[in-house]
Amino acid sequence: MANTTAELDTLLMQRSLTDRELQAAAEQASDFRILPDATVIKIGGQSVMDRGRAAVYPLVDQIVEARSKHKLLIGTGAGTRARHLYSIASELNLPAGVLSQLGDSVADQNASMLAQLLAKYGITAVSDAGMAAVPLSLAEVNAVVFSGMPPYSLWMRPAADGVIPPYRTDAGCFLVAEQFGCKAMLYVKDEDGLFTANPKTSKDATFIPKITVDEMKARGLHDSILEFPVLDLLKTARHVREVQVINGLVPGNLTRALNGEHVGTIITAN
Ligand code: ADP
Ligand code: MG
Repeated sequence: MANTTAELDTLLMQRSLTDRELQAAAEQASDFRILPDATVIKIGGQSVMDRGRAAVYPLVDQIVEARSKHKLLIGTGAGTRARHLYSIASELNLPAGVLSQLGDSVADQNASMLAQLLAKYGITAVSDAGMAAVPLSLAEVNAVVFSGMPPYSLWMRPAADGVIPPYRTDAGCFLVAEQFGCKAMLYVKDEDGLFTANPKTSKDATFIPKITVDEMKARGLHDSILEFPVLDLLKTARHVREVQVINGLVPGNLTRALNGEHVGTIITAN
């Protein structure tokens, strides 16, 4: 180990930081997960929060119940209000970084509302999912709410075409799960999972219980139920090697998924 550290030290001083040998030496450091017992759940913006009480209250009940057994990092999506902002701002020719800031504010609003519903159980929203208040909340009340939009803000990397920020709340929540080395990542949306086509517009779409990132791309489903950058993030992830997309409108689904059941679509890195 001492030798490896010395070797890494030398390489770090002399080489480009993306040098292959340097990266290989860095890989030898043992793996470490910051929050290995926590599960990240993303509560959809358009698919869940925007449906209001009928969709949200049953999920709140399940969250409150589940936290006796599970540690939960609860991220929020943005949804229809963000889409409205994106449409106005893009028509005004504003750039992706500005749209990202606008989207942020909507995910914040959803985090704020969800946290009010959980307040009486001691569960609060943190202003960003950075470490500061997260471990304490998890240790004390087993749950914390965060705004799912990744804080790239004005520095959002623009997509090849168009001004819609490519890294939105699906990506933000995935990155939290991956960086913290969490146990699982669940996307709570309004369909049973992935279908062969958008079930809202294709009546003959069929359900796909399990699929790999490569299969999803090959079948032209890379930009469907999850934001497309999530697939590449998943493929290269070290810790979170699969995600499950579940239908949060079905009573009990969140609880079952948290208990490790396969109730939606599992998308795997390979
Ligand atoms: P969120 O609320 O988390 O942002 P979205 O509304 O962005 O969720 O994504 C979920 C939606 O994706 C579903 O409501 C569905 O209409 C749509 N969708 C598009 N293509 C597919 C597909 N192939 N399978 C399932 N859902 C799909
Ligand atoms: Mg979405």
